[in-house]
Amino acid sequence: MSQDWNTRTKLVHQGARRSQYGEVAEAIYMTQGFVYPTAEAAEARFLGAGPDEFIYARYGNPTVAAFEDRIAAIEGCEDAFATASGMAAVSGALMAMLRAGDHVVAARALFGSCLYILENVLARYGVEISFIDGTDLDAWRAAVRPDTKAVFLESMSNPTLEVIDLRGVAQIAHAVGATVVVDNVFATPVFSRAVEMGADVVIYSATKHIDGQGRALGGVICGTREFIRGTVEPYMKHTGGALSPFNAWVMLNGMATLDLRVRAQAANAQAIAEALQDDTRLARVIYPGLPDHPQHAIAVDQMSGFGTVLALDVAGGQDAAFKLLNALNIIVISNNLGDARSIATHPATTTHQRLPDDQKALLGITPGLIRLSVGLEDATDLIADLRAALGAI
Ligand SMILES: *Cc1c(COP(=O)(O)O)cnc(C)c1O
Repeated sequence: MSQDWNTRTKLVHQGARRSQYGEVAEAIYMTQGFVYPTAEAAEARFLGAGPDEFIYARYGNPTVAAFEDRIAAIEGCEDAFATASGMAAVSGALMAMLRAGDHVVAARALFGSCLYILENVLARYGVEISFIDGTDLDAWRAAVRPDTKAVFLESMSNPTLEVIDLRGVAQIAHAVGATVVVDNVFATPVFSRAVEMGADVVIYSATKHIDGQGRALGGVICGTREFIRGTVEPYMKHTGGALSPFNAWVMLNGMATLDLRVRAQAANAQAIAEALQDDTRLARVIYPGLPDHPQHAIAVDQMSGFGTVLALDVAGGQDAAFKLLNALNIIVISNNLGDARSIATHPATTTHQRLPDDQKALLGITPGLIRLSVGLEDATDLIADLRAALGAI
């Protein structure tokens, strides 16, 4: 393995652990435990396991370790801990580092389950949370305090695709000694430069682009070796949110094509956004790659691409949005994202249904809003599918 490799090479080779058989494809070490040659060896390993010495799959496993090495290498982090899902990563990272009495500042525009962890779980254990408008640096400045232990944000928010100024937030957070924790799903590991911009901890739901084919749940926490092995690992290994070796193998195979897929999907997203931006049946087309996006300049500065998701605000509200969704032929109605298949979601009635109307309005989740996760199909076919569906309104 080499530090000098470029991303695509790392995505194919980094972290692979060949057995004595020299298999070409990554092996799936589908085992819960490991045999020790002697009682003394077992004792020694429990005293302190060396590199590639494993004890129990809840603590670590060779296939899972390969996935951790690969994602850490492309993210530019010292280490990573793989988890059973994206939410196991978000809750694990936060629960591992916070204690009662700590203060956290979080951007308000969050994935529903992230909001639940902060509002319902952490608050119940005595962590104080201040929610703010993440795009407003003055709001971050006003909210941080000397006892602020962490700031939490989605670098690009779901579903309205606000882009947060990571460099600005990191400066403000680091000035009070707070750790910057970034849920980076929408930015994708391909386009992210979160670590370079000042993020200390980067979290992915591997369920999304890393698998990229809608097959398996997984997640990962990336950070310094001290944070991952000193803070995250002890918490995760005792609370049990480990990634299964089979799912790690699915993710490893997903990563081989991650760069190609995400770039092709983002090119499709850009083409769709440009094709539909002047359509009068749409009140707004939201995509960070369009020059009229409020944070277009920030997206250019802190990412090397604009992501694979766009949002269409249908002028006729929920009725018109439902007509459009029901008339789609290629694009399916579901709620995953980052899949090779294009997927349309109506956030107000599904993923964000739980939010009260005033919260939805505050976050820009209008009745007409459709989130479109753009897949690998031909862009011409996708545009034709959307145009035909717009005609059905
Ligand atoms: C999907 C998602 C998660 C949760 O990931 P799971 O793998 O479904 O647990 C967290 N944050 C964001 C931004 C997501 O899109």
